[in-house]
Amino acid sequence: MDLDEEKRRVIEKLIREGYIKSKRVIDALMKVPREEFIPEHLRKYAYVDTPLDIGHGQTISAIHMVGLMSELLDLKPGMKVLEIGTGCGYHAAITAEIVGKDGLVVSIERIPELAEKAEKTLRKLGYDNVIVVVGDGTLGYKPLAPYDRIYVTAAGPKIPKALIEQLKDGGKLLMPVGKYLQKLILVEKRGDELIMKDYGEVAFVPLIGKEGFP
Ligand code: SAM
Repeated sequence: MDLDEEKRRVIEKLIREGYIKSKRVIDALMKVPREEFIPEHLRKYAYVDTPLDIGHGQTISAIHMVGLMSELLDLKPGMKVLEIGTGCGYHAAITAEIVGKDGLVVSIERIPELAEKAEKTLRKLGYDNVIVVVGDGTLGYKPLAPYDRIYVTAAGPKIPKALIEQLKDGGKLLMPVGKYLQKLILVEKRGDELIMKDYGEVAFVPLIGKEGFP
């Protein structure tokens, strides 16, 4: 079976299992070549729905998690999105597909080597609507704030204050919270009110930074 066929099968499985349902998310998962974001020797596993090692003790997220997070965030064309934890850039590419040419993805990564490699891959694939920034994402990225959506791809002890501040009124933020037991938390900002919803247990690498783990 070739990679395209494996990709089609895994996406059909995620639809059957209820992780993904919207055309926008399905089309993005179909379009982005996950194999381009992982080390050469792991490419044959590109469409196995599991995290894979990308070096520096980090991973590319499982396909169902990228799909589920995209659905929960209700991403739309034209949105400005902040991603914390670029890793290899795969999730940023999926978001970039959904927000399109009129949208923007600002992605922050704390490990410079990963940021550099992710940026190269994103450029090679033509994702000009993604800006990769090296830094501590727990502080957000003020120069381009406020954001329609913010998501974090590493688990922190709490939702960083700066991220709430940099979220637009009516915006949504998605983040795994916890150390050993992590919960995927969706926050909706409505004026001074924060509406939180728990989407269950997840397993992410730690968010390391000023408002994260030491
Ligand atoms: N988004 C990735 C993908 O496309 O599959 C997965 C990212 S990986 C699970 C989490 C990333 O968060 C790692 O690359 C890690 O270095 C990064 N990270 C951890 N703490 C961070 C912080 N404070 N700021 C920015 N990146 C951080």
